[in-house]
Amino acid sequence: MNFSMLPETSKSLVKKYLTKEIFKALKNESTDSGFTLDKAIRSGILNPDSSIGIYAGDAQSYKRFSTIFDPIIHEYHGISKGKKHTSALQSVHLTDPDPERKYILSTRIRIARNLTGFNFTNHIDFAQRKILEKKIVGALCDLKGYVRGEYHSFELPAKKAAFTLEEKKMQFEKGDRFQDAAGINSDFPKCRGIFYTPDKRFRVWVNEEDHMRIISQDSSSDISGVFNLLCKALVVLEQSLDFVKDDTYGYLTSCPSNIGTTMRAGVHIRLGKLNQNRTLLASLTKAHGLQIRGTLGEKTRVDNAVFDISNQRRLGVSEVQIVKNLHQGLLEIIDTEKNL
Ligand code: ADP
Ligand code: MG
Repeated sequence: MNFSMLPETSKSLVKKYLTKEIFKALKNESTDSGFTLDKAIRSGILNPDSSIGIYAGDAQSYKRFSTIFDPIIHEYHGISKGKKHTSALQSVHLTDPDPERKYILSTRIRIARNLTGFNFTNHIDFAQRKILEKKIVGALCDLKGYVRGEYHSFELPAKKAAFTLEEKKMQFEKGDRFQDAAGINSDFPKCRGIFYTPDKRFRVWVNEEDHMRIISQDSSSDISGVFNLLCKALVVLEQSLDFVKDDTYGYLTSCPSNIGTTMRAGVHIRLGKLNQNRTLLASLTKAHGLQIRGTLGEKTRVDNAVFDISNQRRLGVSEVQIVKNLHQGLLEIIDTEKNL
């Protein structure tokens, strides 16, 4: 690996902040588990259109390679240096932003968690991934009451064929080229699966971009209900699993865009009028710290004017504040759509 491998055309944050000096200082560094700068920036090297372009392979990566991670984190999350992150996962009571159910099709809030003692999913070997899956599934299968559910492994072809279309839509696919280059797809679909409750409102992706993606989702605009369910489930899971957490950076994840709360709270919303006025929509979302994704997820296109609108920052802002900001932003977006 040499410095010139990061494409000149790249607009990624890693390209912006990885100076020759930092590169030289880090190129022979490694974490205790053998994660190197070379592995960390492979996705950014192979994909000039990356927006960030660097992944952490374990919790220690953030410290060992702090000279490159820190400026990227500060810019992405818009925080100042040394600010300590605090989480707040208390229940909230917000009005329904779309009581007539005319715009919002569904609400989804996910958080990511990684277990201590294991490398992240872009840097884990098969044997460890297997042990990890077993540990997570053990904890999930102990859940009771409204979060009682079943684990569905992606490994067995016979089972996969038996999934209904609705179930297939809930699952995750093999990662895209950005995740692939980072190493996230190794041994896919082995040791991967999804846990969900019979009503499908509570779901956990196992061994996707992080060890766990814990998801609360509902085909309504009840942001409080979706958030409060997630909070309750997390309290129970924290009793049986030990999650990687840092004093300054909160919960740690493989992609630096997710650290802190690790939370992405959003809705699928149909905006026929604003679809024709994307500049206005972009300024509204920006003003509320929201981002737009496509209908089928990150880096996909918007189909039939259905936007995925969710929070951009996950660090330096609490979970409760994220849902409140989303709620406030949606009220204004819906109001604008109505008046166009
Ligand atoms: P993340 O990695 O943040 O969980 P992605 O952008 O990769 O999210 O999307 C994951 C999946 O979740 C995609 O299939 C996407 O269509 C779906 N999804 C995202 N937001 C919503 C929502 N509000 N309602 C229904 N499905 C959603
Ligand atoms: Mg994703």
